[in-house]
Amino acid sequence: MILIHNGLVITRDPARPLIEGGAVLVEGNRIVWVGKGPEPEPFPAGLSGVPERIDAGGGLVMPGFINAHTHCYSTFARGMAAKPAAGFEEVLRNLWWRLDKGLSPEDLYYSAVPPMIDSIRSGVTSIIDHHASPFAVSGSLRAIAAAAALLGLRCNLCYEVSDRDGEEIALQGIRENRDFARECGGRHDDMAGSLFGLHAQMTLSDRTLDRCLVEAGDTGFHVHAAEGTGDVNDALAKYGMRAVERLYRRGILGPKTLAVHCVHVNREEIAMLRESGALVIHNPQSNMANAVGTCPAPELMGRGVLVGLGSDGYTADMTESYKTAAILHKHHAGNPSAAWAEPPKMFFENNRIIMNRLMEGETGILREGAYADIIVVDYKPPTPLHAGNLDAQLLFGLSGRLTDTALINGRVVMRRRELPGIDEEALLAKSREHARALWNRI
Ligand SMILES: [Zn+2]
Repeated sequence: MILIHNGLVITRDPARPLIEGGAVLVEGNRIVWVGKGPEPEPFPAGLSGVPERIDAGGGLVMPGFINAHTHCYSTFARGMAAKPAAGFEEVLRNLWWRLDKGLSPEDLYYSAVPPMIDSIRSGVTSIIDHHASPFAVSGSLRAIAAAAALLGLRCNLCYEVSDRDGEEIALQGIRENRDFARECGGRHDDMAGSLFGLHAQMTLSDRTLDRCLVEAGDTGFHVHAAEGTGDVNDALAKYGMRAVERLYRRGILGPKTLAVHCVHVNREEIAMLRESGALVIHNPQSNMANAVGTCPAPELMGRGVLVGLGSDGYTADMTESYKTAAILHKHHAGNPSAAWAEPPKMFFENNRIIMNRLMEGETGILREGAYADIIVVDYKPPTPLHAGNLDAQLLFGLSGRLTDTALINGRVVMRRRELPGIDEEALLAKSREHARALWNRI
């Protein structure tokens, strides 16, 4: 039993969004009480004993953040030399496909550990990852899941099936998704879930998509969609239809499918996204860095599409994505009044809905029965903070690095900035060793 007390509790529960001088009681992996005061009086029925106390020191007590799209393997690109790219397709060829083809089975665990540590240090308690390592496919998701288990991070994983390296590797990717889904299905603890990964329609034949549809069953897909104009032009040239339209007509879109980016979508495709119930993930920093264009996220949301927020591996700190989303759409629209409501909705509300749609239990909210995924943030507002200005306070005042303590599934994974039982320096030294060897051989 753990009692987090002496905090300004931000619940994300519309019934009572803020509790000043509040506390949260955790038993096992669940929240059993949220309320005002140093502790519940009396304690909930069936609970006895003295809880371990965590003093929030007057800071914020919040649900842990969710990163709805990332690539842990992208860690090894940090500081790597790559030829300049004339466009997004060259970014893929010069950097990402060079990197992922070089990954060995032994690299995967050590590529996943640093961004997962960084995530926890930034207050992120759940990530949805999209993995590629075409010459180390089999067992790759298990290696990433092992890194998540070491650190106690909640994750949803998939392997990106693609025809870009030939049929045999595409078939290996299909098997990896299937095998990992079976493994997760047998665990029922929601700490490691799965989606069925696809790269993007531009590297997937109809034949491969059909195979994926058969193997995926009820599992949703996690696919890059219309990230650059190249994906759209490819679909038009090969299939006489646009990229998102092709995914829709092939039956890939659905209420559990993550359609990542959706930068280049027309009105008809937005209607297809809405009708299918697909979940769009917006990655503002990545889109800006790759110069692919601006996802019309406010328009998508205005037309009934659920849009969440990811980092695409650009950062582990989701408050950076939040801040970027908040300014990108003002800049793009040339309107300082644009996009005030949408970024917090994507980050806090929609990411919660997305993660919970992929699990049996609930995260992203502080209320009785939800998983105990909780962060304590060292933020003391310089101006009055209330329910009406909460998201603006967090937009301008928050940094993931202000996270002091984090619980995931009831386990303290960071206490006063220390990760208990984790030798970070030794793990990072191993990561640098693997990255150096990879850079030397590619
Ligand atoms: Zn991505």
